[in-house]
Amino acid sequence: MALLEARSLTVHYGTSMAIEDVSLQVAQGDVVSIIGANGAGKSTLLRGLLGLKSLTSGEVCFEGERIDGTPTNQLVKKGLILVPEGRRLFPYLSVLTNLRLGASLVEDKDEIERTLEDVYRLFPRLKERRSQKAGTLSGGEQQMVAIGRGLMGKPKLLCMDEPSLGLAPIVVEAVGRAIKDINEKGVTVLLVEQNVHLALEVASSCFALQVGRVVLSGDIATMRSSDVVKKAYLGG
Ligand code: ATP
Repeated sequence: MALLEARSLTVHYGTSMAIEDVSLQVAQGDVVSIIGANGAGKSTLLRGLLGLKSLTSGEVCFEGERIDGTPTNQLVKKGLILVPEGRRLFPYLSVLTNLRLGASLVEDKDEIERTLEDVYRLFPRLKERRSQKAGTLSGGEQQMVAIGRGLMGKPKLLCMDEPSLGLAPIVVEAVGRAIKDINEKGVTVLLVEQNVHLALEVASSCFALQVGRVVLSGDIATMRSSDVVKKAYLGG
């Protein structure tokens, strides 16, 4: 059984269709990536999966249970958590306060402290800078806070929307390593990325979207050898 399964999702903004008949599966323990150009519908797909945008049609199941129509805060409690595009931190609040906000639906106080230590082990820089206002961090550090805040909610499935956006190549590599570490600790990851190199490097399978539809999907070897991916994303 897939941890997350979406069947035939269609989403509109007004009368214009953003995604059409998209199906995908994320198996427990995997890193799955979604690639596609600007406007292909990647963010819309994530928003539809997480109840942030209503579906025109289709079904979403998490741990075998229907979740479409479930309020997002209940999905967070079930362990379905989004690290949004553009990080969306509170710039005037400290790193620590931003991280703690990610745990606002976690009731066990000791668990929150343990998770905070896990986040600091993953990103030691955040411990050093825990009192600094989040808005004064570098872009890469802000992305670490956004990922750390997601982890504070105890995700079973961590969905990340373009974590590499606007970051220097060396920082993108660090984000890739962090995703692998997070996954090795047992968190399943759904990664939306325009950076195809990152998306193919960290994932075990991948879905390619074009103009709102899945045009190709499969394991990473299949994706790398596909002419569609080579031509559209890998420069030849
Ligand atoms: P990007 O990589 O640029 O973020 P994306 O693949 O995530 O792109 P989406 O943001 O999901 O793409 O957009 C898919 C389509 O839906 C686009 O045509 C976009 O213009 C449209 N769209 C997205 N958000 C809205 C909105 N709030 N209102 C109307 N149309 C929207």
